[in-house]
Amino acid sequence: MIPYGRQHITQADIEAVIATLQSDYLTQGPAITQFENNFAQYIGCKYAVAVTNGTAALHLAAMALGVKAGSKVITTPITFAASANCIKYCGGDVDFVDIDPQTFLLDIDKVRAKLAAAPKGTYCGIVPVDFAGYPIDMEAYRQLANEYGLWLLEDACHAPGAYFTDSKGIPQMCGNGQYADAAIFSFHPVKHIATGEGGMITTNRQDIYEQLLLLRTHGITKNPALMSKNDGGWYQEMLLLGYNYRLSDILATLGNSQLQRANEGMQQRQQIAQRYMAAFKDTNVRYTHIPNGVYHGYHLFVIQTEHRLELYNHLQSQQIFAQVHYVPCHLHPYYRQQGWTDGDLPHAEHYYSRTLSLPMYPTLTNQQQDFVIEQVLAICG
Ligand SMILES: *Cc1c(COP(=O)(O)O)cnc(C)c1O
Repeated sequence: MIPYGRQHITQADIEAVIATLQSDYLTQGPAITQFENNFAQYIGCKYAVAVTNGTAALHLAAMALGVKAGSKVITTPITFAASANCIKYCGGDVDFVDIDPQTFLLDIDKVRAKLAAAPKGTYCGIVPVDFAGYPIDMEAYRQLANEYGLWLLEDACHAPGAYFTDSKGIPQMCGNGQYADAAIFSFHPVKHIATGEGGMITTNRQDIYEQLLLLRTHGITKNPALMSKNDGGWYQEMLLLGYNYRLSDILATLGNSQLQRANEGMQQRQQIAQRYMAAFKDTNVRYTHIPNGVYHGYHLFVIQTEHRLELYNHLQSQQIFAQVHYVPCHLHPYYRQQGWTDGDLPHAEHYYSRTLSLPMYPTLTNQQQDFVIEQVLAICG
């Protein structure tokens, strides 16, 4: 069986987890700090906060950015629903804007037009998504956000290790906090780093970092500088309504161990992508072209074909489990109930009608990949 994505667990990972099980800490101990520090270093940001999953990361980031009842936020329809849902958790409203038909990313020109057409102050932020691993040009989004006084929350779940090159020629890693106010990652088993459940928020802003530390654990602090008084060593205060979104040390150890192989995994993803592109070059199978200066993360290898259903079913009959990313968010019944309908976002809907994600993960062998290519071309060649 060949899935579209899967984790890679080594003996070193297993031994690291066993060592944690035998240690003094099972939850939020030294492994969390280690994972956070190493992750921040890998991404090139100042602060990283580990949480229970990517959705919790989105929820806390939205809270820390001040989303509340009545806040209006823009995001893309071609993403996992959590990128939008985090705004709803905080009582805000989501406005989906269509995608660029070349990159399948949130179309900045359409976002600009939407902002220009609304009274100033209508929107408070944007959640751009590095879809499939294609890095958003966050510098361009920063300029636009500054014009309208908006915050930027980057959903970088697909793109740890990916980067774009900014106007000064500097590579900017996804989630590095250089242009966005905060970014989030997930460690779900199909993602680059897999802890089962797990997530991370990255930021360069100290105020957001401090809010996140409180929000992750009930809004409770023991920091004397933050408390109204101090009755003794046991004393703690709850300053605001937070959650229990703490990651366990067991999972942080697993993440930390995998992080050491992140570059290796990324190179394997690049090789797989190169082989797919070479195989589909002169066929009817369309794939995303990557411009110079962009280092794609290849969480997904997305193709476009007019024979999508037939291809999906054929691959499944061959034990190849391709997947579709994504059903456009605005067409889910929940968002339809809020007024969205067919035809609202034509590029996203056209994209959805013909997209398929082929198997893409570091342990996919050349032989398995050749089999996938052969079966794709049997239908689409
Ligand atoms: C995986 C994913 C999430 C959510 O992550 P979980 O850890 O599953 O909660 C959010 N956004 C995107 C784009 C994702 O791919």
